[in-house]
Amino acid sequence: MEQVIVAGAGIVGVSTAIWLQRAGYKVTLVDRQGPASGTSHGNAGVLAASGLTPVTMPGLVKKAPFMLLDKFSPLFLRAGYFPRLLPFLAEYLGKCNYEDVRLYAKGMAPLVHDTVSQHRALAKGTGAEQFIEDTDYCFGYADNQDFLADAIAWDLRREWNVDFDVMAGKAYGKIDPIYDGKFATVVRCSQHGRISDPGAYVQALAKHFEAEGGQLELATVTDLRQDSSGRAILITDKGEMGADKIALTTGVWSKPLLQKFGIRVPMESERGYHIELVNPELYPKNSMMVVGGKFAVTPMNGRIRCAGVVEFAGLEAGKREAPLKMLSHHIQSLFSELNYDSQIDWLGHRPALVDSLPMIGSITGNENLFTAFGHQHLGLTGGAKTGRIISELISQDGSSVDVSPYHTNRFN
Ligand SMILES: Cc1cc2nc3c(=O)[nH]c(=O)nc-3n(C[C@H](O)[C@H](O)[C@H](O)COP(=O)(O)OP(=O)(O)OC[C@H]3O[C@@H](n4cnc5c(N)ncnc54)[C@H](O)[C@@H]3O)c2cc1C
Repeated sequence: MEQVIVAGAGIVGVSTAIWLQRAGYKVTLVDRQGPASGTSHGNAGVLAASGLTPVTMPGLVKKAPFMLLDKFSPLFLRAGYFPRLLPFLAEYLGKCNYEDVRLYAKGMAPLVHDTVSQHRALAKGTGAEQFIEDTDYCFGYADNQDFLADAIAWDLRREWNVDFDVMAGKAYGKIDPIYDGKFATVVRCSQHGRISDPGAYVQALAKHFEAEGGQLELATVTDLRQDSSGRAILITDKGEMGADKIALTTGVWSKPLLQKFGIRVPMESERGYHIELVNPELYPKNSMMVVGGKFAVTPMNGRIRCAGVVEFAGLEAGKREAPLKMLSHHIQSLFSELNYDSQIDWLGHRPALVDSLPMIGSITGNENLFTAFGHQHLGLTGGAKTGRIISELISQDGSSVDVSPYHTNRFN
């Protein structure tokens, strides 16, 4: 039986491990802290089939300096981190044009358009099905002018056949009373989904993987290589492990592990936060992107999770006050009359490459080593399918999805 090691047990790694196991491989899943201990724990839980627009939309370059000065705006930057960030930022902001946005949509569409059915296929027979819900995904605009200003995004979604309807905030308030009087305009996208507890979902999938004979190892990966006979070797703080293939799914932490291969990985953490309202007296019906604050509100098991913010401050800095204050401010004005027991906050790291597309595929010259990371804001949405793609690349030597937009060498 051929062996594969999957390094990193977020949604991408766990999906990869399960699909490989189903394809008949002996799989070992390695994580330094265990399943869903990274970004996959605290995301907004939205299965965003309409996720076709990057952060780098046209107009951002002009708006960004004003956003950084406005404490209620969702963009943050740690001044001391700026010199390190600058090369990334220059390239990243260079993508704020219509042509690159269209390339992004073309690249992401195959990973996100069928997200709900991909998650259902992944979770089938695992016990994790209970976390998947079919729902609408809404975008709430406090001012109709802001909706009109977002025309590029909605035109693009229309082109990609996203099914949505635009309604007055008052009309939507009748459907989802918690939002009554909160928005001028709401756009409701159908055929979306949500995960009612993203961390527990990934952990349930990992439990199933182990119950089916998969091995889970707690170890920190420090290096990987392919030896002259083609064997794939993973080096960890607990020793070396060998296999026929390795898939590297360590999210935003993947960059230093790839440096030795000469692969350029222009990736930064787009830090994000969540605040949860525990045991609220009323829940929203659907997930809602609060456009003014760029955070998503999702009803979850026993709580409402409000997750968003884009902060550039690197991987080492801990939680910072200003983004949490901004999120709190928006939550307070949205749910001022809502009673709940307590709040919990969390910081997470979205893996963002300059073109906002992931790196999925084998490493040129080391064909038994594979990468799958860099899904930025859409790793939960695209993670189930990405695992399936890696499994197909390994077991069938090719995938039904064209992986050329995600090539590991595309920045060299
Ligand atoms: C606030 C916020 C809201 C979000 N909302 C959504 C949403 O609604 N929908 C959506 O689709 N996406 C959302 N995302 C993005 C999504 O969460 C991520 O893209 C996704 O979780 C990335 O998954 P991953 O498996 O690649 O990485 P991770 O979940 O980060 O997993 C990587 C794993 O690798 C392990 N690891 C790292 N380094 C090592 C090492 N050296 N050795 C061993 N193990 C290692 C870590 O412990 C971790 O478990 C959100 C993100 C944030 C921050």
